[in-house]
Amino acid sequence: MNFPMKPKLSFAKNLNAWYRKNARDLPWRETSDPYKIWISEIMLQQTTVNAVIPYYKKWIKLFPTVEHVAKAPLQKILKSWQGLGYYTRAKNIYKTSKIICALHNGRIPDDPHQLKKLPGFGPYTVGAVLSIAFDKRHAIIDANVRRVIMRILAIEGHADTSQDAEISVFLEREMPVRNLRTFNQALMELGALVCRNREPLCLSCPVKAQCCGYKKGIQEIIPKPKKKIIKDIDVAIGILRRKGKYFIQKRPAKGLLADLWEFPGGKTKKGESLFRALRRELKEELDIDITSSRHLMNVKHFYTQFRVNLHVSLCESQAYPSSGKDRKWATLKELNKYPMPSGSAKIVDRLNKINGQVPD
Ligand code: SF4
Repeated sequence: MNFPMKPKLSFAKNLNAWYRKNARDLPWRETSDPYKIWISEIMLQQTTVNAVIPYYKKWIKLFPTVEHVAKAPLQKILKSWQGLGYYTRAKNIYKTSKIICALHNGRIPDDPHQLKKLPGFGPYTVGAVLSIAFDKRHAIIDANVRRVIMRILAIEGHADTSQDAEISVFLEREMPVRNLRTFNQALMELGALVCRNREPLCLSCPVKAQCCGYKKGIQEIIPKPKKKIIKDIDVAIGILRRKGKYFIQKRPAKGLLADLWEFPGGKTKKGESLFRALRRELKEELDIDITSSRHLMNVKHFYTQFRVNLHVSLCESQAYPSSGKDRKWATLKELNKYPMPSGSAKIVDRLNKINGQVPD
């Protein structure tokens, strides 16, 4: 592999020295416990460091070990994950914890072949656990590392996995013999604090002398931005309320947002009014005929590829659905205990705030 300009040998040394002085004090950096590293890495794939901190602290308090996760009910796991999104990841943590307890005596293996067999352990997670927890020689490439190395090597193009082969060759060559966990974490930290997505702070960068993108003055156009197509989706949500209790139902065990609880309703069809959509959805889902609805609130929620606008109405009906395994009538206080998609959780928050003002 021919690199446009070969970085000097001091790359890892400069990087590690910078990290020792500048690393943020984060709760998962106080430990090398493979379980805690694993949980933090999965959470960090979801959202920002600041958003992860309270989730991580709460999770570790509730589930201090793999055994605690394996023995917990799935609904408790999903509730603890609520707000982080990508619930499949929480379910994979659950499945993997059970496997680790059954096959590995409750200890996360340090063998890459064993790790790769576990649900949710893709190349990034395997590398992160091996290098950060076990200090093994393993390159890890997350979005920050990919951007940093693309700039260092002046690789022009989109930041996607097609760049990873070239990036891996570079990392394999530059990785120090010892203290791999510092090297990998330092690269990620450099991407987060200095070699930022926008306006990288090149003048204070510890590896600017080795950065081809900086030397060529093209660092700000690397990587090439991707065009985002954001779709708007309107959803009609029906609040059924009787004797101070609200109706919720559980989503199917497979598919999007599986096993989470939500209020009834669904997407509007092209040209369909909100009331018509609400009547159609509640008839299809619950076989009830709503007679009137009163607008309560609008809740917006953003996903990576789309924006959801939840139009929430209080509905009257001649008959109401009964409770069952996957259908519940719950007080506002009880609603807080059910794991819900973020949009539904926001509705519960707003219902809590307007409690007493909901028209009967
Ligand atoms: Fe990133 Fe600038 Fe440092 Fe290059 S010199 S690695 S572009 S911050």
